[in-house]
Amino acid sequence: MEDKDQQKKQPGAQKGAADEKGDSQEYEKICYMCRRPESKAGSMIVMPGDMCLCHDCMQKAFDSVMGSNLDLSKVDFSQLSQMPYMNLNFMPSGDGENTPQMQISRKQKIKKKKEKAGPAFDLKDIPAPHVIKRQLDEYVIGQERAKKVVSVAVYNHYKRVYAESLRISPKNGDKLSQADEVRIEKSNILMIGPTGSGKTYLVRTLARLLDVPLAVADATSLTEAGYIGDDIESVVSKLLSAAGNDVERAEHGIIFIDEIDKIAKKRQTNARDVSGESVQQELLKLLEGSTVEVPVGSNQKNALTPLTTVNTDNILFICGGAFPDLEKIIRERLSKTSSMGFGAELKDKYEKDAHILNQVASADLREFGMIPEFLGRLPVTVTLEKLTKELLVQILKEPRNAILKQYVKLLDMDEVKLAFDEDALEWIAQEALKRETGARALRAILEEYMLDIMYEIPKDPNIGSVVITRAYLEKSGGPMIRMRG
Ligand code: ADP
Repeated sequence: MEDKDQQKKQPGAQKGAADEKGDSQEYEKICYMCRRPESKAGSMIVMPGDMCLCHDCMQKAFDSVMGSNLDLSKVDFSQLSQMPYMNLNFMPSGDGENTPQMQISRKQKIKKKKEKAGPAFDLKDIPAPHVIKRQLDEYVIGQERAKKVVSVAVYNHYKRVYAESLRISPKNGDKLSQADEVRIEKSNILMIGPTGSGKTYLVRTLARLLDVPLAVADATSLTEAGYIGDDIESVVSKLLSAAGNDVERAEHGIIFIDEIDKIAKKRQTNARDVSGESVQQELLKLLEGSTVEVPVGSNQKNALTPLTTVNTDNILFICGGAFPDLEKIIRERLSKTSSMGFGAELKDKYEKDAHILNQVASADLREFGMIPEFLGRLPVTVTLEKLTKELLVQILKEPRNAILKQYVKLLDMDEVKLAFDEDALEWIAQEALKRETGARALRAILEEYMLDIMYEIPKDPNIGSVVITRAYLEKSGGPMIRMRG
């Protein structure tokens, strides 16, 4: 079917190829309909009469050919596999030699929703808040209040999902009782806490414990539809891929949108705020629950990507951010509302209060630049505290997958015992505090100092144990090494 005159020329090799053959009759295929060359429109299909068609036009042609009497047996469909995601909504009949074989090799599989009669899961499957909290305790150090609030919110969220599924499919045609008519509202969560205090870690741990899919998105990359950046729906698309393209599983998942403070309303701007207020506006319908059309296997909608619909009604949204300077806004509000005369004294008290973030009110967040409608859709507010030196030491050694435990395991494989002096751990925590990136700094510091240990120790098979001392970290001494035997 390939015509010699119509052979594709590599755009870069155009001149060389023509010179070699001394033949200027070599052309690129041009789409008969949109007139784009093959190098722009992708591989072409050659129709009877040497008519070339690109993927996009072919798709249009398929859609309009449906129901017509065109003789499709003369078309070379063997090249169709080079065209991804072609939606062949017809199956030609006939069993002759030229019967087209419709085989799409790169089509994404989308698991469609099954029409179920009952609720998606049983009430007994939802762990009680104290169980969720106890499990979180094994991984997340400190942040007691945050863990408690999140456990209750998640428990209520899945109870709501259960109740809603009963509403949709009342058992044996039962009429809804009066109690059933009480609709539980969504308990989306707003998480406020300094960087590295464990916001993302808490949500990740939660999703793993509950065995629900999780998508972590960054609000800074989102822009209003039509502008450069990711569309709002891309967060749902991420969740769908985390759920293995299983729409039903995705619809019970969790979406964590980080850096939510970065989409605060921009102050004093005349230009259109495409990454601030507009993003908050567009997020409203997702947070509340709506049906969105999302691309499968990509976060950008385009002609080549198949689409599916996802309902965000039962998706739990958690928005997190550091909200810098929010403490200042809270202090100002509190000292303004306090009685006259004691103003200065109270101001001083608030200045010293390390837990001032706990007193955050909707007014403070509005002042920060979040729009009231957006805040209204995040009814649960939870604050995380800045990690102290003591908590950082605990984080080093106590969680189930603590960093120290990981190093101990690594050296254990070389049959070397690794230990850390308590004052060495305090030094690491102190150093982490200076970097002001919370617990995130711990790993960076340890990697810096453990590099030489991890490099040197396996060299000598006689080494039986190593103790990391404060002197080694301060570079005024070495680690304590003991030989075997
Ligand atoms: P952020 O609050 O900026 O989202 P992360 O959750 O990403 O911070 O924290 C970074 C890392 O620090 C996590 O991967 C985790 O290992 C560790 N970490 C942070 N907070 C805690 C905590 N409270 N308990 C245990 N580990 C923590």
